[in-house]
Amino acid sequence: MSSEPLLYERLTWPQVRAAAAEDRVAVIPVATLEDHGPHLPIDADLRITKEICRRVTADLAEETVLLPAIPHGYSPHHMDFPGPITIGWDTFTRYCTDVGTSLARHGFHRMLYVNGHGSNQNLVEMAARLVGLEHPDVLSAACFYLGSPEGLTVVEEVRESERGGMGHACELETSIYLAIDPDAVDMSKAVDEIPTVQSEHAWMDWTDGSLKLMPWWSSFSRTGIHGRPTLATAEKGKTLLDAAVSEIAGYVRELRARPLPSRREPRETPEAP
Ligand SMILES: [Zn+2]
Repeated sequence: MSSEPLLYERLTWPQVRAAAAEDRVAVIPVATLEDHGPHLPIDADLRITKEICRRVTADLAEETVLLPAIPHGYSPHHMDFPGPITIGWDTFTRYCTDVGTSLARHGFHRMLYVNGHGSNQNLVEMAARLVGLEHPDVLSAACFYLGSPEGLTVVEEVRESERGGMGHACELETSIYLAIDPDAVDMSKAVDEIPTVQSEHAWMDWTDGSLKLMPWWSSFSRTGIHGRPTLATAEKGKTLLDAAVSEIAGYVRELRARPLPSRREPRETPEAP
């Protein structure tokens, strides 16, 4: 059932208009360029996010349109390491918002920002929200990958590392990169580093602790790694990638099926069912 995604940038303007009229969900990959240890390219978040979105929009080729990825995100706390391109939080949020409001202007009513870089997340969520505030009849949503209960169950099934082993350039990200492009990963340079500063409520893993703390990355990791990439395998990566694709395809289907919102006058009693 898999075919080619409909690529936004390859359309003519009448085709853009037609894609909007077909009520397609616009899928917008968002990531960053950032150090991922000595063994992974700096495009890890970008490559993974693009691949997930490509597969989702290929599987749902009749219901989606795939936007070019937004490659640069918010990574100021990584700047002690060579590589990151970081965009100011407000510029980045505005930029992501403007992508969505442009799509809304062209008649798209359903859009999903798929983000693959942790520190982008609250900003991408804000961008999605701002699009909906400006265009009340638009469903604009944001997600990360492998964050649903189903996705997290697969993460738990696959992992061999303890808590902290799936933070950054870790067992999870390295496995997925191995599944996408093994030649780009230098496993001879992979080393494990789990910072010792994890505490009861502030810890980092695929899901983080409830106490939110993000100091300069170099203060807790020497290599830029947070996790156990030496446990990574392409087989684990394939399982994780498949789970991420089916998870996000589920989000797209849900967005497509939901009624569009509309603002209404308040009243003192709810509507009769
Ligand atoms: Zn990453």
